[in-house]
Amino acid sequence: MKTIVQISDTHLMDLPDKNFIELNPERTFHQIIDEILSRHQHIDTILHTGDVAQVPKPVTYQRYLNYMGSLNIPFYQTPGNHDDPSCFPYPQKSKLSVISLDRWCVILLDSAVVGKVDGLIDEEQLNHLEQALKQHQDQHILIGCHHHPLEMKSAWIDQHCLKNTDQLMNILCKYPNVKAVIHGHVHQEAEIYFKHIPIFSVPSTCVQFKPLSQDFALDEDTPGYRLLNLYDDGRLETEIFRVESMIEKINLNICGY
Ligand SMILES: [Zn+2]
Repeated sequence: MKTIVQISDTHLMDLPDKNFIELNPERTFHQIIDEILSRHQHIDTILHTGDVAQVPKPVTYQRYLNYMGSLNIPFYQTPGNHDDPSCFPYPQKSKLSVISLDRWCVILLDSAVVGKVDGLIDEEQLNHLEQALKQHQDQHILIGCHHHPLEMKSAWIDQHCLKNTDQLMNILCKYPNVKAVIHGHVHQEAEIYFKHIPIFSVPSTCVQFKPLSQDFALDEDTPGYRLLNLYDDGRLETEIFRVESMIEKINLNICGY
């Protein structure tokens, strides 16, 4: 079995003491990591599904890499719409990362499009994805990207979804060993099915968006992360954990960012 932690939407600033939506994202990110380390004895890999930075400067990414590197747990990240691909630390120097974990294989896709809030998996990646899926048919597959492939029933969030979900899912549905898709972007927990494939979202490590809200609205829920236990026989168990108490109070009157 492999134990994976998914974190997302850290929205780190260029300086660690700066706030994002009246909250210090550095502090809540470190709080999440501290809770992960104290709650779970063994973690094989941490996956970050995008929006690593709110201020996407090299210094922001360097600080993230230094911090994650100090944990001595393998970690991988894929960009979100707030990240800058020109200085994003792609784990494998390409938009698509393939991570083998014995009986499982994680494929991270880059759904971010420069200058846009919504997402797309470009043709080149779709081609690489098909090649990777052909090569890894003897492993169980977990796919990760930033944008949500299926609607969350929240108008302001759904206008910024993945725009070529059908293209992606048509490929994934051809391979019965594809077990799940994980994503970030929506700052809330969800589990939605595309045919037989579960699609899981995760809370942000900083502010949460209010589920089912048609306009921008923050939620009082605390930051969280997703734990995934990937069994050798292809079964997958997953659970959301949230921090028990927030150091800072969310201002629910904020109406955009
Ligand atoms: Zn975000």
